[in-house]
Amino acid sequence: MKEITDLTAAELSCKLQNKEISAIEVAESYLTNIKKNNDSLGAYLSTHPDITRKAAENAQNLLDKGLAKPLTGIPIAIKDNISTKDIKTTCASKLLENYTPVFDATVIEKIKDHGMVMLGKTNLDEFAMGISNENSAYFPAKNPWDLSRSPGGSSGGSAAAVAGNLAPLALGSDTGGSIRQPASFCGIFGFKPTYGRCSRYGLIAYGSSLDQIGPFARSVEDIALLANAISGNDHKEDTSLPQDPISYHEMKNGSLKGLKFAVPAELYDNQAFEEGVKTCFQNRLENLRKAGATIDIVHIPTIDLGVSCYYVIATAEASSNLARFDGIRFGNTLPTRHHKDQVALTRGKLFGREVKERIMIGTYVLSAESFEAYYIKAQKIRAVMVGEIDHILENYDAIISPTSPVTALKIGEQNNDPVASKLVDLSTIPCNMGGYPAISIPCGLANNLPVGMQVMTSRITDEKTLQIAYSIERELNIKVQNPTY
Ligand code: GLN
Repeated sequence: MKEITDLTAAELSCKLQNKEISAIEVAESYLTNIKKNNDSLGAYLSTHPDITRKAAENAQNLLDKGLAKPLTGIPIAIKDNISTKDIKTTCASKLLENYTPVFDATVIEKIKDHGMVMLGKTNLDEFAMGISNENSAYFPAKNPWDLSRSPGGSSGGSAAAVAGNLAPLALGSDTGGSIRQPASFCGIFGFKPTYGRCSRYGLIAYGSSLDQIGPFARSVEDIALLANAISGNDHKEDTSLPQDPISYHEMKNGSLKGLKFAVPAELYDNQAFEEGVKTCFQNRLENLRKAGATIDIVHIPTIDLGVSCYYVIATAEASSNLARFDGIRFGNTLPTRHHKDQVALTRGKLFGREVKERIMIGTYVLSAESFEAYYIKAQKIRAVMVGEIDHILENYDAIISPTSPVTALKIGEQNNDPVASKLVDLSTIPCNMGGYPAISIPCGLANNLPVGMQVMTSRITDEKTLQIAYSIERELNIKVQNPTY
């Protein structure tokens, strides 16, 4: 028989509603796993067993009274850049080490409203800046497939928690790939919804025109259940779309037969991609063809400029967003005699190296002398790229590619070549540039490490992304494997 912590959220939900297990048993099973394994995985920065147990009791009450929703009683891990009332939210930064928000992010209000049970706050690259979780000011999260490797970043802790059976579901944030790339490295599903479908209210901002919250899970059904629970219009957030929550009712009615997929040549025949990743992806393309889908190699000429553009736009937005951390209003302060020294000392000592570098790059590209040459140029390229992608999506159901050109990096490897390591986000960044929904689906192993396939559809067609992903999962018989670690 399967252990409680091996079940998907949908399976758990069935057992909870049928009274085969209780929400308290489910929470206790996960708390035990966390106690046993979090030291080796480094997935959680903090856990709060008393709060978890209380939430599980409340959930059981709802279940007993027949007031349960599909995710009532299901545990969830939360990336530590999403504000949680009365629970520390550190962004894995020393600057916010003691910061406790006085309000919940909208997505947290929603998961509480569903009677979900929060397990803890997960590790990340400081302020979500990175690809490997090694920029965490505390400790790096590890990949359950190989503890000497990174689970990816920036939402590495959330991905490691789900892949390592320390949570059935988790929330991450994705500015340039931080949900999809860790999902790919850890062999699970990770979904970035359309920009604006999940409220960013309470997500500590990195690049506001790119940031989006989304789910990690071990099946597409679980992704859809959580996407539904956290999405929908929010009057507290100006970029929130007026759409209803993401629906999953049509998800199971699709089929691969007759679908048209575009594979950008620039994300296929590129020397940044490892051979093992290419082979794995090509095998899946063959499976898709056999299942009745059409696959064309297309050109999106500006798509490989995405990374360069992104590091101008994201750093510009970060330099402005992170100005609020002045050592006065939020978090830690290093005392000095003069106010102006205090701001410099606090930011200088308590921000990590990567964050400071990005603030400096962002300030530079926004400065009067370089604004036209960098910032405006990057925005122009962004507009051209989005036009090219929109054009392809008018003629195809989805654009597909490997999620990441490489499998999980060795811890320490990114430091060998920090510029080259930015190319890890080659396939994921274009999606944030245009606000498209995209999911990473586990598509096999290369050298015993997971490889992901990304499926991206037009804006506000999240239901279609999920329907295609569900068809792929079912028709290609994709099963998330449990690594032993
Ligand atoms: N790796 C990218 C960066 O460091 C993306 C991070 C993210 O999506 N939060 O900016």
